[in-house]
Amino acid sequence: MELAYLNGWLGSLEDAVVSVNDRGYNFGDGIYEVIRAYDGVMFALEEHLERLALSAAAVEINLPWKRNELKEIAEDVRSRSGIDEATVYIQVTRGTAPRNHLSDEDMRPNLLVTVRHNTEIDPALYSEGIKAITIPEFRWQMCHVKSISLQASVLAKRRANRAGAVEAIFILPDGTVTEGASSNVFIVKDGVLMTHPADNRILPGVLRHFVLKVAEALGTAVKVQPYNILDLKKADEVFITGTVTEIVPVVNVDGKKIGNGKPGPVTARLHKGYTALRLR
Ligand code: PLP
Repeated sequence: MELAYLNGWLGSLEDAVVSVNDRGYNFGDGIYEVIRAYDGVMFALEEHLERLALSAAAVEINLPWKRNELKEIAEDVRSRSGIDEATVYIQVTRGTAPRNHLSDEDMRPNLLVTVRHNTEIDPALYSEGIKAITIPEFRWQMCHVKSISLQASVLAKRRANRAGAVEAIFILPDGTVTEGASSNVFIVKDGVLMTHPADNRILPGVLRHFVLKVAEALGTAVKVQPYNILDLKKADEVFITGTVTEIVPVVNVDGKKIGNGKPGPVTARLHKGYTALRLR
């Protein structure tokens, strides 16, 4: 059964209740992780907990739990749910107090862990690819933090959806492609794989990390450097990465076909390599 763990309380998602004074509720003052469990095992849990710690440090939330405690809680809730193909969500907000921008330094954070059935993914996502739009970057200067303040991404997704697309890709004023609203973006040109460096302009995606590893193992040429919107539209292949959908081909950007308008061979090879690595 789908479960929620909230500061030691365990029950159904419908029964889990947070205070209206939760700073996550009032300010979006919190961080999170989304982890995929395959066959009862959370993939790359260590990497996700490492990123959670980095996000916490960046936004000055002192995590009162040791890494191992968080691991045990997440594994315990996953196990009790009995759901093998699961999406595990971990959220930490700064804590609960009457609404005031400023908070006490020693406030105790709130920990939420939910375990849900992984939503069935339509195989057409991979065999046909998706459409994306580009959108001016209008997020903040700390995109490396996995913050629950996601209003800009929510708006970007709404615009994409209205345009009949699945993802919105952010573009800086100088034309540089950063990442998607909920994904990292890669392009392939003349056999070379490119993606934006992991700096403050993008979230260092766990899938991104593994795609780069797989590319190296397969001997694919890789350039981790900024590229621009023209490179994106003239690419032979474009794909996005994220924990839940893994590697998804993008076959159309702003109404323009990418390559021949079909998912490309490098994307497929990397996805196959990723699956093999995950099952190792
Ligand atoms: N970039 C953004 C802005 C995201 O929200 C996400 C995932 O939600 C990603 C990239 C992909 O990260 P990961 O591969 O760790 O799921």
